[in-house]
Amino acid sequence: MATAASDPSAQGRADPGSAVRTIDPADEQAFLDAIETWVAREVVPSVKRYDHADEWPGPLVEQMAEMGLFGATISSEYGGLGLPATTYAKIVMAISSRWMAVTGIINSHLIMAAAIERFGTEDQKRKWLPKLASGELRGGLALTEPNAGTDLQAIRTVAAQQADGSYRLNGTKTWITNAIHGSCFALLAKTDPAADPRYRGISLFIVDKREGESGLSTGKKFDKLGYKSIDTAELILDDYLVPQDHLIGGVEGQGFFQATGGLELGRINVAARGAGVAEGTLKLAADYAQQRETMGKPIAQHQAIQLKLGEMATRARAAKLLTLDAAEAYDKGERCDMEAGMAKYFASEAAVKNSEEAMRVFGGYSYSKEYDVERFYRDSLFMCIAEGTNEMQRMIIAKQYLKANPA
Ligand SMILES: Cc1cc2nc3c(=O)[nH]c(=O)nc-3n(C[C@H](O)[C@H](O)[C@H](O)COP(=O)(O)OP(=O)(O)OC[C@H]3O[C@@H](n4cnc5c(N)ncnc54)[C@H](O)[C@@H]3O)c2cc1C
Repeated sequence: MATAASDPSAQGRADPGSAVRTIDPADEQAFLDAIETWVAREVVPSVKRYDHADEWPGPLVEQMAEMGLFGATISSEYGGLGLPATTYAKIVMAISSRWMAVTGIINSHLIMAAAIERFGTEDQKRKWLPKLASGELRGGLALTEPNAGTDLQAIRTVAAQQADGSYRLNGTKTWITNAIHGSCFALLAKTDPAADPRYRGISLFIVDKREGESGLSTGKKFDKLGYKSIDTAELILDDYLVPQDHLIGGVEGQGFFQATGGLELGRINVAARGAGVAEGTLKLAADYAQQRETMGKPIAQHQAIQLKLGEMATRARAAKLLTLDAAEAYDKGERCDMEAGMAKYFASEAAVKNSEEAMRVFGGYSYSKEYDVERFYRDSLFMCIAEGTNEMQRMIIAKQYLKANPA
């Protein structure tokens, strides 16, 4: 998801529908055990095939729906599992330690669901959330445009209200995860292109592919470096009509706030992916280093490799702890945008660094697609871009720190 340089939602924890969430530790462990079993039985044997063919993992998606993952963070009153952010982060870490990309299918889906649960009308919640929770509907987030990523307020998609109250949408969204296989999207558009400040003219709509017979189409699918198998494409709106009751919250001008209001959970989520990749690459490198021998001993016994493993293990642990620290604050209902930003920044950089170090531990074999390490390396860079680039992340962390710590 994209973020803007100045974020009016960062005034405080904006979470009208939230209650403090907890889970019995035994229930959490049972759930995590089930996830580990699924990852070992279904994901590990198939990941290389899906990734190399850039093929959408349909059977895995069905299994994720059966496990309830499409409703992981949706409240139980709307058919979800209502899991705390800490449990959700642990699930994402466990899956990402073997295949990060597949978590992309549930992540932007759950951010869309969170926008509806937090900001939607009661009718919207009852209409959309149960179907999203079951996986009958699979969602995504359509914010970015060709000219507007970090600077989200520069979007050009326009939603013009018609005499009957519906909205006519025109514009192009790009880099949209789940654009091809997803069924509905939380889509950002300008209802007042002349508004000043710009964010006051931005609204968030639910766009359902099944309802519009014409006017909404999928454009170019990106052929990506990594994050394969997950469809990332353009969405093109050409005089696309959206019913009035698809305006999230029913009031215009709230969209920028609603879209960026999920940043804390979104960043915890990307942090969990980064922590998973950092852990996964550590395990790959440590296993390999104990088996590969040079000069008559396993390379794990050479100091140069030990230095790498020591740093990798420390980074993986720090990434995990920072992620859980932010998630715990989130579950307590505390403001945690700075903590979530720190976790996202650190864990995504840890993922990149650990992947690169694992490549070095594998030597020449790292360059072969027979090994998993090259996939982690290709996938890792994405997390430095998602949910606000790491350049912006550091600037926002610094501003928040300075505000809280005046000289
Ligand atoms: C695989 C993938 C999946 C994605 N999925 C989605 C999705 O599902 N939905 C969606 O809406 N978007 C999605 N995105 C888009 C993503 O959110 C944007 O790419 C991201 O927000 C950055 O925007 P940009 O690419 O336009 O870069 P730009 O905004 O053009 O930034 C380019 C560079 O300039 C830096 N920069 C920009 N502004 C400033 C500033 N003010 N100060 C300092 N540095 C600055 C940035 O940090 C970056 O390094 C996805 C992207 C990728 C790669």
